[in-house]
Amino acid sequence: MAKAIEIKSKGVMCDNPACDFLDPNMDMPSGVEGLRAFIGTPCPKCGASLLTKEDFDSMVFMFGLAQIVNDTIGSLPEDALPESERMTIPVIMDGTGSVVINLSGATKHE
Ligand SMILES: [Zn+2]
Repeated sequence: MAKAIEIKSKGVMCDNPACDFLDPNMDMPSGVEGLRAFIGTPCPKCGASLLTKEDFDSMVFMFGLAQIVNDTIGSLPEDALPESERMTIPVIMDGTGSVVINLSGATKHE
């Protein structure tokens, strides 16, 4: 069954503005407990935290919102949402707990 909203953590970047560490292939752990264990993981380049407690709390909040929407809509048949109808919307976090939903960076799937 398909979900209306899926949250995927793709790539990791350092929140330190003086650091340019970005690894698009390094995925954060999935699930709340995996992410909780990732809090404070040091950046391999500068040592700053790659996930702060503030951003973790915001992620848990986003998971909760997605769950409310998905529970309200209910499970959808896999063919109810063809790839051509799906969009990926980047969400940018900076370690402060603030969440920027980058609608201008949204891409429609082919
Ligand atoms: Zn860094």
